[in-house]
Amino acid sequence: MKRLLFQPKIWKNLYRSISPIIFPESCLMCKNELAASEQWVCSFCHGELVYTYFELYTEPTKLDQLFWGRVSFAGTYALLYFEKGKSSQKILHALKYQSNPTVGVAFGKEIGRKIKLLEAFKDLDLLVPVPIHPKKEFVRGYNQSEQIAAGIAAVLSVKMDANFLKKQEHTESQTTRGKFARWDNVVDNFILKKGNQNVKHIALVDDVVTTGATLEALARSIQKNYPDIRISILSLAITK
Ligand SMILES: [Zn+2]
Repeated sequence: MKRLLFQPKIWKNLYRSISPIIFPESCLMCKNELAASEQWVCSFCHGELVYTYFELYTEPTKLDQLFWGRVSFAGTYALLYFEKGKSSQKILHALKYQSNPTVGVAFGKEIGRKIKLLEAFKDLDLLVPVPIHPKKEFVRGYNQSEQIAAGIAAVLSVKMDANFLKKQEHTESQTTRGKFARWDNVVDNFILKKGNQNVKHIALVDDVVTTGATLEALARSIQKNYPDIRISILSLAITK
């Protein structure tokens, strides 16, 4: 029993179950108390979010254009515009640094509802969260893209596999470097896990697309080894 009390997990769970009583749920963006009907973000702040409405576009979106001449995607979607200093930045901050993995799931569900009827994503087989640097995951305790993907997966009834892409065996020169330094150059060195060979259309899930460099590297790596797999992108936000 004594040893049990020293396990941080127990205290964490206890804190989680009583914190809403001690600290009423507050808006992730303005910190004001939430009304019973509100979740994560108060209605005022929700009105401040800048939606892309890409689901209504018939012409190419900003996200499509970002990858022109670089890599070809079956479909692309981002829910929000992200602008430095604006409210959507606070959402991402909350998602990344305030230990709020469930916010990601909630926004993922919203993405799922928006794209559910879009032709481009009808034959999606699998959702693959963009992997983050292991050091960041260690500090944060979770990968926010995985939370977003879990939300989308729940609405679309599509499988999610965070380990779909398996790092290829390290070459000798890579193993001599530090564990974290090595990660950066394996992003273009992924191979498909056994058991995923039947997948035809995957969506890479990201939190925010800025330059698109990571997505491009991942897509190129998949296309190089598996030219028959179609690839899409689903992101919570795109920088404006
Ligand atoms: Zn608010």
